[in-house]
Amino acid sequence: NPDARDAYTVLDVELRKVFKVFKVDTAVRGVDLDIRQGEFFSILGPSGCGKTTTLRLIAGFEMPTAGEVLIQGKPMTNVPPYRRPVNTVFQSYALFNHLSVWENIAFGLRIKRLPRAAIAERVKEALKLVKMEALANRFPAQLSGGQQQRVALARALVNRPAVLLLDEPLGALDLKLRKEMQVELTNLHRDLGLTFIMVTHDQEEALSLSDRISVMHDGKIEQIGTPSEIYERPQTAFVADFIGDTNLLKGRILSLNGSEIEVLTESKMKVVAQRLDSSTAWHPQASVAISVRPENIQLNLEPSCLQGNCFEGRLQHVMYLGTHVHCVVELKSGDRITVKQPNTFASLPDPHTPVYAYWGSKDSLVLADS
Ligand code: ATP
Repeated sequence: NPDARDAYTVLDVELRKVFKVFKVDTAVRGVDLDIRQGEFFSILGPSGCGKTTTLRLIAGFEMPTAGEVLIQGKPMTNVPPYRRPVNTVFQSYALFNHLSVWENIAFGLRIKRLPRAAIAERVKEALKLVKMEALANRFPAQLSGGQQQRVALARALVNRPAVLLLDEPLGALDLKLRKEMQVELTNLHRDLGLTFIMVTHDQEEALSLSDRISVMHDGKIEQIGTPSEIYERPQTAFVADFIGDTNLLKGRILSLNGSEIEVLTESKMKVVAQRLDSSTAWHPQASVAISVRPENIQLNLEPSCLQGNCFEGRLQHVMYLGTHVHCVVELKSGDRITVKQPNTFASLPDPHTPVYAYWGSKDSLVLADS
């Protein structure tokens, strides 16, 4: 019962109709967010969509033009960053190069004039959390990117914040190190039980780390959900396209029959699709987009489809990728689609080979055209 769960869920961070207008740009346009205590929450979106501004509004580095930010139930309107129970890890790490690892981590506590013994104890604890005890006396220039990232994390954690804000925390690392640090971030989140709010433009990173993801587009939240909800049940064409590859076909609704919808594409194909979002009142003639994931399309050399969608076309490219083949097909309608399937061909067909593309109605989702 989701209502019962919500009644007991403690919210750590709330945004209420928040806007942020800079001189020429409106970076955030009426964002509402409920971030639960202890969850790993990601804000995902393309460059310039307003992710960082949203995080900075939570941190208190920016003030909303309208709307309100609450942390642990308290309005933050007149609370400066250093008085908020949050700490930020920046993509650039922002370490002090002239201070040792130990001093970098102790810095904030010295400013707060904590007793010497308390500082020592907390720094030791933070170093242990990020497995950097052995390198406490090094300087940032003597550390690898991953180690610098750990120091930046320790420096934020030493203040014992309720909420950790992470701005593209792994953006500066190479792919292998990035994967390793993803695992460490997940472990840290699990061990500490803190609320993590991470900004990223990396879909895979958001999918693999988060309890919930909010997808931002042009200053607004397009959808909030668990990774599988976002991937399998996107609500808009933008979300479907941004999270993983998809084939988008634009068109208009011809007829509705229960959860099945027949759509006439702009290229005059009749596609049978399924609606996911029962709250949207779809009606004939409405403009929609159909999303079909490349892995849900099957190519055959013979016309062998009984029901669902089957369209004739010609192969344009075939790429062998070990576990699967990646194909581009030009359909008779003129639409180009990509297909990713296990290599079921006896031998790889040549480009220009006629093929039949098949997918079931439940594999084509009707989405709001955004
Ligand atoms: P990126 O992934 O590239 O960092 P983002 O999604 O984090 O992008 P923001 O940095 O929040 O996006 O920026 C959103 C919009 O607001 C952009 O158009 C940006 O140019 C504008 N903007 C951000 N900060 C300022 C500022 N201090 N002054 C003026 N405009 C700003």
